[in-house]
Amino acid sequence: MTELTSLCVFCGAKPGNNPALADAARTLGTAIGQSGRTLVFGGGRVGLMGELARATRDAGGHVAGFIPEHLERAERADKTLPELHVVSDMHTRKLGMFERADAFCILPGGLGTLDETFEILTWRQLGLHDKPIALLNVEGFWDPLLEVIDRIIVEGFYHTAHQHRLFTVVTDPEAVLPTLAAELAGQSPDAAPAPGHDARALG
Ligand code: AMP
Repeated sequence: MTELTSLCVFCGAKPGNNPALADAARTLGTAIGQSGRTLVFGGGRVGLMGELARATRDAGGHVAGFIPEHLERAERADKTLPELHVVSDMHTRKLGMFERADAFCILPGGLGTLDETFEILTWRQLGLHDKPIALLNVEGFWDPLLEVIDRIIVEGFYHTAHQHRLFTVVTDPEAVLPTLAAELAGQSPDAAPAPGHDARALG
């Protein structure tokens, strides 16, 4: 059984227009901090990622940031973090975040968030890792993405080699940690569903 000790969160480097999304980021950060777990993130003070990291620290959690040198200024690298890795490039950043985490959560964000999301999803699809992934679908933000994925399934482009779930859709930020911890512990989310989640299966 593997325990959930470190959660990597991908999210926007901007706050977005809908305050409910920043609220969700803060709620998740508080839950991570209160649970004594570690947040792994992009290392900046900007946008949803900044909100998330501040809430995690305020609630007593450990925070590990990974930021490439060339974004230290643009994303306002938080030099006060207990663990800040300033790395040479984007690939090193993503690999560092991947290795440091037991599981992943995707919050609303932009193109960078999508890049990180699809890399971690496709790595799992290829069998390069088996770390659980939760997509936090606050106020339907990710509905269009889920429609595209459903279309990919209907049109026969999804891969069926894996019998496990590739990712789980969660609507309540409070459900993220229990959902990922249960999956890591080898318990089927079907057997003990956390509130507000819907699992998307491969095959
Ligand atoms: P965004 O969702 O566009 O606000 O970006 C969220 C985070 O993803 C930011 O920290 C960006 O630096 C990062 N990011 C942007 N482009 C990429 C990329 N190609 N690969 C990985 N991370 C990226």
